[in-house]
Amino acid sequence: MLAVTEASENAVDGEGSRTARPRVVILGAGFAGVAAARALKKSDADVVLIDRRNHHIFQPLLYQVATAVLSPSEIAAPIRQLEATQANLDVMLADVVDVDTTHRTVDVILPGIGTRKVRFDLLVVATGTRPSYFGHDEFAAFAPGIKNLTDAETIRTKILSAFEMAEATDDENERARQMNFVLVGAGPTGVELAASIAQMVRVTLRRNFRQIDPASSTITLIEGGDRVLPSFAPSLSKKVARHLAKLGVKILLGVKVDRVDAQGVIAGGERIPSATVLWTAGMAASPIIQMLGTKTDRAGRALVEPSLNLPGQPEIFVVGDAASIQQDGRPVPGVAQAAIQQGRYVGRLIADQIRGREPKRAFRYRDKGNMAVVGKNFAILESGHLKTAGFLTWFIWAFVHLLALPQLQNRWRVQSQWLWSYLTGQRSSRLISEAPRSTISEAPRPADAAVTTKQTTAP
Ligand SMILES: Cc1cc2nc3c(=O)[nH]c(=O)nc-3n(C[C@H](O)[C@H](O)[C@H](O)COP(=O)(O)OP(=O)(O)OC[C@H]3O[C@@H](n4cnc5c(N)ncnc54)[C@H](O)[C@@H]3O)c2cc1C
Repeated sequence: MLAVTEASENAVDGEGSRTARPRVVILGAGFAGVAAARALKKSDADVVLIDRRNHHIFQPLLYQVATAVLSPSEIAAPIRQLEATQANLDVMLADVVDVDTTHRTVDVILPGIGTRKVRFDLLVVATGTRPSYFGHDEFAAFAPGIKNLTDAETIRTKILSAFEMAEATDDENERARQMNFVLVGAGPTGVELAASIAQMVRVTLRRNFRQIDPASSTITLIEGGDRVLPSFAPSLSKKVARHLAKLGVKILLGVKVDRVDAQGVIAGGERIPSATVLWTAGMAASPIIQMLGTKTDRAGRALVEPSLNLPGQPEIFVVGDAASIQQDGRPVPGVAQAAIQQGRYVGRLIADQIRGREPKRAFRYRDKGNMAVVGKNFAILESGHLKTAGFLTWFIWAFVHLLALPQLQNRWRVQSQWLWSYLTGQRSSRLISEAPRSTISEAPRPADAAVTTKQTTAP
């Protein structure tokens, strides 16, 4: 049976510890954090779930918010609503700013109130990742990454504004620059965004402008490696590259980005003028991991034990994208399924400990397959030896993603938007909203720079 520390019995930090039960604090209400909290639903513990946002985001569809297919609320759900029926759970809207593993406290900033200490008996860190600029944090001001709804809205505003400026200007060079879209990194997010922009310029925006033809825009996808979607089989990468080419996306492979500035990018020694450069190249672990004083990999993710706790600290777990663990000689991927399975595993492990049951076996990731969508009617799926591409796979992709959305109302609304968009080619969220500069992306702050992967050039 798990021992309850004095800290938890006397916890007076205002976060809802009312009993002498063990207190489990979960940092982050993404896929991993929510799964961990739910797995503790019937346990004899007080659970505190802390997030800096009041909503859980379905990140796989962020690119559709960025390209005006969906609006933000359609892929997000209020954390309090999601967990409303879990009596042993308190939700806290707060920014985690420090973790003291010796005294078992977490420092948080509550909006409008100030700093508080939150005590824990067990800690589950599920704070995910943020865009990484591979040591070039100065790129962030010109090339937003996409990780949350603010990022997605910023990108949407950038894309839609570019057409307005192209329409308004008399300068041919400036017009061309506005109609050049550059994406850095051809992983799933880069590919999905590029294809969606390609479809938007050819279908959605057709006949909407008088001075410009949006279909004459250039969309360039830059990748440092030798193929798009390097996490998929080479045969699927080839099919995707062919499909992107059909959509009019220009792919530059084996090209390093040397510089990103207000005028565009310098890649492979050549300047590409562009008013819209999007960063889809890499992720680094949340800076919270650094505060745990534990060993990390190159991307700043915590190296965890087979039971997902930190070495020598059985009461501190790291799950989801912020954790680094190998299975059968390969890293467990940073995908939603892995995060959910890890969160659920740790939640159950803690519940078993509290009940005095034997600890579970080591975590094992069950890969259910990976998918990526490339515009309308085309997606790829890789699951074990199965590799498929085309319309049927796209249909499966749509079905799987609808079911995975957090709430019934999200599914209903997304399905209607998709149907409308499929039939008419229109996108209902074409809003230019003024996003203040400071909200552009969760760009690494100078203090975070140390956890970004050190590399002299971007991929
Ligand atoms: C654009 C995009 C597209 C993707 N597409 C796919 C896909 O198609 N399929 C797939 O399987 N995976 C996809 N992924 C990856 C998948 O979303 C992640 O693997 C998954 O979200 C990881 O879950 P997590 O719980 O570890 O982290 P997250 O889901 O990122 O959650 C982390 C949470 O921690 C909170 N947080 C962070 N720092 C703090 C702090 N200091 N204080 C308080 N709260 C904090 C954040 O607000 C967030 O809610 C995509 C990711 C992105 C960004």
